[in-house]
Amino acid sequence: MSDKDFPYSGFSSLAIHAGHQQDPNYAHLTPIYATSTFVYDDAEQGMRRFSGKEQGYIYTRWGNPTFHEAEEKIAAMESFGVTDEHGDPLILKAYLQASGMAAISTLMMSTLKAGDKILSHYSLYGGTQEQMNTLLPAFGVDAVIADLRDLTIAEDMLKKHPAIKMIYIETPANPTIQCVDIEALTLLGKQYGKVIACDNTFATPYLQQPFKYGVDFVIHSTTKFLNGHGTAIGGVFMSRDVSFMKGKAYKVYKALGGSSSPFDAFLLVNGMKTLEVRMERHCSNAEKVAALLNTHSAVASVNYNGLTSHPDHAVAKKQMRHPGAMMSFELKGGLQSGISFMNKLQLCTRTVSLGTCDTLLSHPASMTHYSVPKEQRERYGITDGLIRMSVGMENIEDILSDLEQALK
Ligand SMILES: *Cc1c(COP(=O)(O)O)cnc(C)c1O
Repeated sequence: MSDKDFPYSGFSSLAIHAGHQQDPNYAHLTPIYATSTFVYDDAEQGMRRFSGKEQGYIYTRWGNPTFHEAEEKIAAMESFGVTDEHGDPLILKAYLQASGMAAISTLMMSTLKAGDKILSHYSLYGGTQEQMNTLLPAFGVDAVIADLRDLTIAEDMLKKHPAIKMIYIETPANPTIQCVDIEALTLLGKQYGKVIACDNTFATPYLQQPFKYGVDFVIHSTTKFLNGHGTAIGGVFMSRDVSFMKGKAYKVYKALGGSSSPFDAFLLVNGMKTLEVRMERHCSNAEKVAALLNTHSAVASVNYNGLTSHPDHAVAKKQMRHPGAMMSFELKGGLQSGISFMNKLQLCTRTVSLGTCDTLLSHPASMTHYSVPKEQRERYGITDGLIRMSVGMENIEDILSDLEQALK
């Protein structure tokens, strides 16, 4: 049975089954196609494959059956219940990539050229920021960075910089958990004829579907919640413009060479099947953790978009099913209390990254931002006592007691 024929009523049914094709040897799971190349019966078949007259795999950098299942599954999740401008089910085309950054590179190189500009929000994943600030300018593409939570500012920038080709958003953003209004920005961007791209890594398609609002491109770092177990780096680049994806974007995808590996794709496929149950648990745990921290005497403030005190609470509520599993909080007592809190953790894991089964905590001032001068990091909101947390799926009582004993 082809998954396209079955009218899935629930997200998990789709996440488990969509994208799967019967294996020629009847393996239950799509095998890891660990092969660099694919063979032809005769020279004529090779000709038909290369000319595109016959469907089939050629070389793994160009596509692979294990990638294909992951690509189709993510596309099915991002388009679940979403319709196109004619009211028909939305069709997406996705390419699996070696990392989230590779997906962003393919997006930028296939949509922009020298002289174009990107409009983006000031809070973005560090690697994306670096790509916009240092790599792209060398190719003649500059970024206009503004507070895109303010639509008046966004419109002023569009008027002031007619060379803006793309609006690039990330919501919730890493690491501030700030949210921008996808629907309002897409409406505005479309009035000015711009392309809209959204990094949906923090939310996942279970919590938020940017294509519902008319966004053109969605990218993910699948390394995080989509894989869900911290077993592989990966990314995906996808669009509603299927002919662009099969044409220009496919050429760039092949020539940049950032395709995934069949092993990583296999791990991703299996991780994604449980996305709904994992996100439900991550999110319900996060709400309870936020409630504890919010009233704790050792905590100065909690930054979590599920709290009504968060400046983007209303926007998050409008476009996300649940507030997500990421938060940060500020300890009273600065650097020393941050270090001592981190050292006392027994159950939770001290590390960067996010989206795995276990609860992950990092202390940017002593870890990721240790070498950044205090004055500079404080401008980005990275204060001495700031702790970032990816709430995991352990039993909530255990997470809460570990935090309570470490906060003592
Ligand atoms: C991690 C991350 C990326 C980069 O992904 P990699 O898989 O590490 O290359 C991009 N965007 C966001 C929001 C991320 O959290």
